[in-house]
Amino acid sequence: MSHESAEQELIRIPITVDVPYRFAAGNYMSRFLIELRDNGKFFGIRCPSCGRVQLPPRIVCAPCHVRNEEWVELGLEGTLTAFTVMYLPLTDPTTGEPHEPPFTYGSVRLDGADSNLDHIVRLGDDYDSAWVGMRVRVVLRPREERIGDLSDIIHFEPLEGQEKPGK
Ligand SMILES: [Zn+2]
Repeated sequence: MSHESAEQELIRIPITVDVPYRFAAGNYMSRFLIELRDNGKFFGIRCPSCGRVQLPPRIVCAPCHVRNEEWVELGLEGTLTAFTVMYLPLTDPTTGEPHEPPFTYGSVRLDGADSNLDHIVRLGDDYDSAWVGMRVRVVLRPREERIGDLSDIIHFEPLEGQEKPGK
């Protein structure tokens, strides 16, 4: 075997690495998740400079670079600000459970918040019936099933008595 060959063959070794991990949610996210788990409530945090209410709460307002300290209870209802209809299966990153398509995935601005929460919007068989501005409510798991993460939210669902504009 020559040591002077210009190119050495490189062997690929395919392996699958399983890397379980945990990370600390921190003071702000922990408080947010504990309120959600124990009391079924959503809390955002208000910037003392620009007044915007962030959800999930962040310790610093990114545009203002100031510390947020005023907790604000938000509504359990909100407004759909954007959505998409999913025609491909999506594996929920928090549960590992697949959601069978088609379904609607949307951004919801809870009443009192200035940022959105992205989640499934349950519309039944009429998955293409959403519109921007549609009013929705959050559906949580029962208290005894909640574990303190965003999978405690099952989905959002539309409020009754609304009609799609232009229909
Ligand atoms: Zn601010």
